[in-house]
Amino acid sequence: MAGASPRLGKEALINAIHSDEDLRYCPACLREDAEAAALTGQRAAFHLRERLAWRFRAVRLCPNYGIPLERIDRPDEDELVGALPEQLIAAGDGPGAGAQPNGIEAYIAGRLTRATGPQWLDDQPLGQAIRSAELLGTALAFEPHDAFEDLTGTERETATQCGWGFVSQADQELRQALRILEARAAAPRGPDKWPERRVFGNLLREAQDSTLKVPLWDVLHDHIAEMVG
Ligand SMILES: [Zn+2]
Repeated sequence: MAGASPRLGKEALINAIHSDEDLRYCPACLREDAEAAALTGQRAAFHLRERLAWRFRAVRLCPNYGIPLERIDRPDEDELVGALPEQLIAAGDGPGAGAQPNGIEAYIAGRLTRATGPQWLDDQPLGQAIRSAELLGTALAFEPHDAFEDLTGTERETATQCGWGFVSQADQELRQALRILEARAAAPRGPDKWPERRVFGNLLREAQDSTLKVPLWDVLHDHIAEMVG
């Protein structure tokens, strides 16, 4: 429903989700809904449910079927508030064999079904875990001064998966990622007043703007203290 920011427990999932204009859906899941409706003799539209997992930018495949989510412009409020249009139900045969979800897709699907572990990830808001992966992956797979928001869809996917490879691990792996960035940074031209800005770019900027307790920020602050210390 336009205007309502989805929540997970107390957390507002603002940064991690697609804009309100995007409606993403899995035709196979909606077909299941329609079949349930048919069993009760009710109108399909009353049974078509939008799944929270579909709203995440990092989720490209249906967690249940492994098929790519489809996208339409979210319809304006229709007569059935919150219902999805019946024409989204797939015609024809059921879905073929799906793909395996990648690491972050599987993690998001798990969090949404209340799975727990690893603990260092459970301790941070889901949206922040995803954002950490996006930022770190942008710096690693592209450049520390590139903005995730400026990347193409495919580049974002690359960045998110790259970052998740480190964020999903414990502190030692995050440290390793920061050492890679430090080793790779170009030598300064002229006086190097803020080496940490040169090396970590947007990662540092977002860490400084954030009031949240995020493992990546803690590791980053420790690393910089040693680096410039
Ligand atoms: Zn599905």
